[in-house]
Amino acid sequence: MKEILTIRNLSMSYGPIQALKGVDLTVNEGQIVAILGANGAGKTTLLKTVSGLFKPQGGEIIFDGKNVAGKASFKIAKGGIMQSPEGRHVFIGLTVEENLKAGAYTLKSKTIDGVKTSGKKQMSDNFERVYSLFPRLKERAKQQASTLSGGEQQMLAIGRALMASPRLLLLDEPSLGLAPLLIKDIFDALVKIKGEGTTILMVEQNALATLKIADYAYVLELGKINMSGDAETLRNDERLIKAYLGG
Ligand code: ATP
Repeated sequence: MKEILTIRNLSMSYGPIQALKGVDLTVNEGQIVAILGANGAGKTTLLKTVSGLFKPQGGEIIFDGKNVAGKASFKIAKGGIMQSPEGRHVFIGLTVEENLKAGAYTLKSKTIDGVKTSGKKQMSDNFERVYSLFPRLKERAKQQASTLSGGEQQMLAIGRALMASPRLLLLDEPSLGLAPLLIKDIFDALVKIKGEGTTILMVEQNALATLKIADYAYVLELGKINMSGDAETLRNDERLIKAYLGG
């Protein structure tokens, strides 16, 4: 299996607070990989360091064979990593359609297998993809994002990230604050997104639900990975669930 992301010995500090203490992690192409752990474990810091919002103190972030550690976030986004942030952060003054369009800003024409596809064509394909994943967004295309429910805003945040045709989608707590039924909708969509060929690295506190859709998971504790394994094995490890995952 091909590795799309390899993190080696990654460290990051907020002044005196060392949030990441030598993290090693691998994401294989075409999988959903989860980072689990309690509040303050460093999960958000890890995602934001991968997407270039924070500069690491040391270590490597190899994406698609290149070390992108410390590179500017817009360059990392252009290279194919998009993050949907915790708390959603959609543009509430814009409509659903305008939010999605804003996500497509990095698209430019590209040639795959000798076929040239313009940025415009990719944008219209991506609109179709997002609207078929989340039909509620299509129904609400002309509505202001401020009028959406929390779950719909989460769909919009994920959809906006997908508009850039990422190869690796980073998701920070997609289930945060949502009712169980909506969590199921969002997680079902993540499985479809993976099925369409987009690799996902997601941070979640909702460990048991996440282990049902993930292929592989890491448990982060106080800035260090202290356990990892395939999701099915971890899901059946009662000791682990009790000790780390609040089961
Ligand atoms: P949560 O699930 O609560 O979001 P997390 O696992 O995502 O937690 P982080 O937000 O990455 O954890 O925080 C890791 C550590 O870094 C914590 O001790 C936190 O207090 C600290 N931290 C995070 N952001 C900052 C900041 N801007 N300045 C100083 N310390 C910070």
